[in-house]
This record gives sequence, structure tokens and C-alpha cells, in this order.
Amino acid sequence: MSSFTQGLEILLRQLRSLDTANRPRFDQSLIERIKRLKIEEVEEIPSQSSDPLGTGSSSSVGAVREDAYRVADPDEQEIVPNEDREQRMAALREEVLVCTKCPHLAAFRHTVVFGVGNPSAALMFVGEAPGADEDLRGEPFVGRAGELLTRIIETMGFKRSDVYIANVLKCRPDMPKGSSGNRQPTPEEMQTCLPYLRAQIDIIQPKVMVALGGVAMRGLFGTSEPMKSLRGRWHSFGNIPVMATFHPSYLLRNQALTEKRKVWEDMLLVLERLQVPITQRQRSFFLSKV
Ligand code: URA
Repeated sequence: MSSFTQGLEILLRQLRSLDTANRPRFDQSLIERIKRLKIEEVEEIPSQSSDPLGTGSSSSVGAVREDAYRVADPDEQEIVPNEDREQRMAALREEVLVCTKCPHLAAFRHTVVFGVGNPSAALMFVGEAPGADEDLRGEPFVGRAGELLTRIIETMGFKRSDVYIANVLKCRPDMPKGSSGNRQPTPEEMQTCLPYLRAQIDIIQPKVMVALGGVAMRGLFGTSEPMKSLRGRWHSFGNIPVMATFHPSYLLRNQALTEKRKVWEDMLLVLERLQVPITQRQRSFFLSKV
């Protein structure tokens, strides 16, 4: 019998002998027991993911599980009803939409790009900053990189509206008059804006976050390590596990199947962490036919 099943048996016995006079003590021991079971269950996930490439060696999926991060424990967080989340997110949005903390960005922007999606999402994607398309539409990831992100989300089996998408910086970084294109946000701009992202994360309490690219990782963690060493590993933002992966615009610049596969392997790890069943077809996406 697995320790998970044994644990459930014990819990059932405890439930049957529930003594209302001892309830507070009982509740505490039950909670502790469930916490331990959750951790054991995560550690005991069989090596179904250890070699999705079929080579037995170089898969980052297998490598990453060794330092896998414990799932966010709902008992450690305040459980927020969905309606409250919607209300709190709407109030935060009102505040952010009129922000002028970075006067140069406030003067340059068309709109503040607050964030979009389900305020009760289990999965949250974090990008760096809006580009020109997002600035005009007021929604993150709606340009070419956004279309690719949407395809990634759908390939994972979600709709865009199931997840939450936000950037570290809520305004498009300003550009010299007359020049097109986008620039990266500065560390100071991201630092100034980070409390808004933190507030969004606090409301959503996602089970997992995905940081898209090195700039998002810098904004979240202050790290300047290269993405080559950051991606495919779990990081933690407070008690939330964060998977670092390449930014979709990197995949637009580098169309190699190997790079797409790396991002996809990162997403398989995310699905595992979310305990979402993964189909054989999903496991084999972007694997070379040769
Ligand atoms: N790139 C980002 O990081 N965020 C967006 O919203 C669009 C492109």
C-alpha cells in the first residue's frame, strides 16, 4: 500500500473517531497530516517524466525534478473567495490605470497595460513590459509574441481566459520621438512597478507562475543570470513556484525545433506541478522525427 493510501486510511480512522470535545486539537493534527501527505505525494510522482525525449540522459524534465520545489500549500495562505478576488483586482486596476510613478512612462503611454485573465487562475504568466501593440490595445501579449504565447497556452490545454497574464512593468517603455520598436524596461522602472505585480499575485494566489524571459526574471528576482541556466528550473517567489522559460519573442527569432522543445519541456513541468494529466501527444510535441 502506498504511503498516500496508508495516510488516507489513518485519516479515515481519525475521522470516524472524531470527538467534538477535542476538535481544535484534532483539526490541527489533521491539517498537519494532510500537509505531510501532500508533500510525500509530490515527491512520489513516478518517473513518468524522467525521459520524455527517449534518450535517458539530457532531458531537463528529469534533471529539474530533483530540485523540484514543494507545491504552494493552501493551508499557509488565506483562501480568498472568487468574487472577492474579482473585486480586489478591479480596485487594484483602477489604482494602476492612473499611476504616474514614472512620469516619463505616464507621458509616453497610450494605456496602462494592467493584466488580463482569470483572477482565480492556478497558472499565471509574467512577461517583461508591454510593446507598441499592447500599449494601443491595453492588453498584454497581443502582438506576434502574444499570439505565440496564446498557442503555447492552448497547447497546454487551457484557454487564454483560464490563466492570468501580466507584465512586471505596466507601461510601455518610452522610445525617442519618431523611432519605432520597443526597448527593455530598466531595473529602476521594474522596481517601481513591482508592487503592482506583487498585489496581483497576492490576489490571484496562483499555484504556479511562469516567468517569460530573462528580463521578467530580473524584474521578479533581481537576477542577471543568463536564461540558459535559469530556464527549466523551479524558482520561488515567496511560496509560489516559478518556472523560468524563454520569452516567446526569442522563439520567433530562433525557430529551431530544439528551442521550441525546451520551452515545451518547461511547460510539461508546469502541467505536472499543476497535476494536470498530460497526453502522450502532448509529451511528444516538438520532438524531432529523425
Ligand atoms: N512582451 C512582453 O514581455 N509583454 C507583453 O505584453 C508583450 C510582449
